Amino acid sequence: MTGEFDYLVIGGGIAGTTAAEIIREKDQLARIAILNEESHPLYSKVLIPSYLKGRIDREKLFLRKISHYNALRIDFFPNMQVASVDSTRHEVTTDDKKTFSYKKLLIASGGRPLEIKEAFSSTTPIEPLRMHTIEDADKIKNIIDTAQEKKVLVVGEGFIALEFLEIFTLAGFEVHASARTNEWGVEKFGMEGAKIMEENFIRRKIIIHRNAAVSLIRNDEFYLANGDHFKCPYLAMGIGLKRNLSFLSELSANKGVITDEYLRTSNPDIYAAGDIAEYYDVRSNERRVAGNWTSAFLQGRTAAMNMLGGNTIFNAIQSYNLVNMGLNISFVGNSHDEADRVFEFPRSDSLVRILVKGGKIIGGVLINRFNDKLRLQKLIEEDKLPNDLEKIFS
Ligand SMILES: Cc1cc2nc3c(=O)[nH]c(=O)nc-3n(C[C@H](O)[C@H](O)[C@H](O)COP(=O)(O)OP(=O)(O)OC[C@H]3O[C@@H](n4cnc5c(N)ncnc54)[C@H](O)[C@@H]3O)c2cc1C
Repeated sequence: MTGEFDYLVIGGGIAGTTAAEIIREKDQLARIAILNEESHPLYSKVLIPSYLKGRIDREKLFLRKISHYNALRIDFFPNMQVASVDSTRHEVTTDDKKTFSYKKLLIASGGRPLEIKEAFSSTTPIEPLRMHTIEDADKIKNIIDTAQEKKVLVVGEGFIALEFLEIFTLAGFEVHASARTNEWGVEKFGMEGAKIMEENFIRRKIIIHRNAAVSLIRNDEFYLANGDHFKCPYLAMGIGLKRNLSFLSELSANKGVITDEYLRTSNPDIYAAGDIAEYYDVRSNERRVAGNWTSAFLQGRTAAMNMLGGNTIFNAIQSYNLVNMGLNISFVGNSHDEADRVFEFPRSDSLVRILVKGGKIIGGVLINRFNDKLRLQKLIEEDKLPNDLEKIFS
């Protein structure tokens, strides 16, 4: 046995670190450890794009030092990849066969970007750029600084793709964006939103390829579904997260590790928090996964309280905000769900898009309407669908 702990945390991101810190705050005697596949203490993923845009130094990404864990008597094990969990023996084993025992276990192992082979066929060893870890960021930075041919294709229509588009535009690259349909981002932003996004791309000389899912990549040649074919030395991918569930085969899982509203998994001594968790959302009575920093922080806190014997329900409205190429974009609540009705209140360069399901507002997207965010959040909280939505938001 390499170590015996009262509270063991798999993953040293914001969810796992927060949980370990809260447990220490409430229990001075507990033996606490974090096992982390990465070599670094907690750093900010949220700030990676700012670093790549040259707005902050690399060292500003780090949010904790090793001395901090030492001071809190939290054993932090870097480069430690958990390979299996044995809930009967209350043990986890790492890929290099180290074994740790626990009384309570938290799974906070996050997600990872979808790989190229999971997305489309490729007959080439091309290594797409991803933006998930510090190592990914260092690689992108190196390309920005040294690329001979400054040309990139950005695949994806979510927030990581948006960050890639801005990073490479600022770095002086010829930037190509591929849209799976006729409008970039229409699934998330709707027609009005897609129009605002595209006008902004065109102002920044980003080349949009429409109906252009990547069909095939052969060396540095890209074949798109619309028949376009072009050469490009770099591919940047932001097409979504996948959760690694392979080492958690004993637990109920779907998209993520399934938990109840207390973030407890199908095993009463094991909890899950952050991007890896598929939690029961008491607001919608549905299970859902989150992919944002605030949710991961709040879930880490809630899981810790419950691991300590509490009964705290996780009940937070998801929210994600980014400022990208001059646009202030917010996703509030369940903004990607299927809605019964959609209300859109556009102005020339701004939009409020509201999703309604079962007679309630469930979420929305705001472009350049940050001042309306709290108002929208409150309507979601209150389960309201006012008659005068238009008066409120137009
Ligand atoms: C570039 C980027 C920008 C972002 N910007 C924003 C933003 O502006 N706003 C926002 O709200 N959110 C943003 N996010 C999302 C946000 O960062 C994540 O939702 C959040 O970091 C999730 O935290 P987590 O602790 O659940 O997981 P993670 O941060 O992914 O941490 C999980 C940790 O577990 C480790 N791990 C995985 N498997 C194992 C294993 N088997 N054994 C041991 N350790 C393991 C991983 O190495 C990792 O260190 C951004 C994400 C990225 C990548």
